[in-house]
Amino acid sequence: MTWFEKLALVVGMVLFMECFAWATHKYVMHGWGWGWHRSHHEPHEGAFEKNDLYAVTFAVFVVGLFTAGMWWEPLWWAALGITIYGGIYAFVHDMMVHQRFGMRWVPRRGYSKRLLQAHRLHHAVKGKEGGVSFGFLFAPNPTKLKRKLSQRVDP
Ligand SMILES: [Zn+2]
Ligand SMILES: [Zn+2]
Repeated sequence: MTWFEKLALVVGMVLFMECFAWATHKYVMHGWGWGWHRSHHEPHEGAFEKNDLYAVTFAVFVVGLFTAGMWWEPLWWAALGITIYGGIYAFVHDMMVHQRFGMRWVPRRGYSKRLLQAHRLHHAVKGKEGGVSFGFLFAPNPTKLKRKLSQRVDP
């Protein structure tokens, strides 16, 4: 593989993972996977939540992919792309938005602030249904999200 192919694969995987994470969050975690994800929408004690099992599941999958990549190189680079996405995700979602692992940085302007607001609005809905903003790295405009939330009819 040329370096360009490797780079394209890694960057492509990071972008793909955002779409994949959005779909998984919306249709699986807020669908039949709610049992694990609920812990993330409710206050809880202790450093870990059941929702972390999703991270563990992905980690196991990625280790498998790295292993398979020893026989077929593109898989290894794809696995690297997923790992990078996981790293960004852990930083943005867990550390910046939810202030886990002792991080206390609250962005006051720019895109990071928008990300924070968008995900806070995702958490404004406590239940499984009717949420907004399922992505993590592409944050929709908070004003639009708020409008969407206010238009929501409670079942
Ligand atoms: Zn959620
Ligand atoms: Zn969250």
